[in-house]
Amino acid sequence: MTRAFYIGRFQPYHFGHHTVITRIAEEVDELVIGIGSAQKSHEPGDPFTAGERVLMLNNALEELSIRCYVIPIEDVRYNSIWVHHVAARTPRFDVVYSNNPLVLQLFREAGFCVKQSPLYIREKYSGTEIRKRMIEGKKWKHLTPQPVVEVIEEINGVTRLKNVAANDNYFL
Ligand code: NAD
Repeated sequence: MTRAFYIGRFQPYHFGHHTVITRIAEEVDELVIGIGSAQKSHEPGDPFTAGERVLMLNNALEELSIRCYVIPIEDVRYNSIWVHHVAARTPRFDVVYSNNPLVLQLFREAGFCVKQSPLYIREKYSGTEIRKRMIEGKKWKHLTPQPVVEVIEEINGVTRLKNVAANDNYFL
């Protein structure tokens, strides 16, 4: 049985993440997904709470055929102990998939098997691009799975993002 780990901030969860996770799900038996920077919300670059992001992922991942554990993980000041911090909050896993260079480096140094996940149309599917579109009143719903759209609408997420970004010169 192989269990993999994948982490993201998912601000918000989009089709880039979803495509990669769907591919990983074809290679492993179970998947642990960390919601990174779980302590952050109500900021222009991190508008959604950990709980809201858990809902986005749980609902979007229902279509996958493997078991997924979605676990919020707060940041820690010391990168050097972050892998232990993650391991203390998650079920044991055998392999880490990521495209984030720091995540790959820290897990590699800690002796984990790491695999670089491919990027899927990064210029289109990016949290920064989606938040920018939300703030500017442009179309964004086609960039995220429908269950994510529903969570964001239920919490009035676009209005929240516009309000917290109001005096921030779009610091995304
Ligand atoms: P993210 O949501 O931006 O991205 C998550 C993953 O999806 C990344 O591997 C990214 O490359 C990938 N991705 C993005 N767009 C994609 C696309 N179009 N196609 C395919 N893949 C795509 O999140 P992130 O910032 O990479 O998340 C890492 C988390 O780990 C952060 O919350 C960070 O704070 C945390 N972290 C914390 C520490 C610490 O606390 N000391 C250390 C390292 C990492």
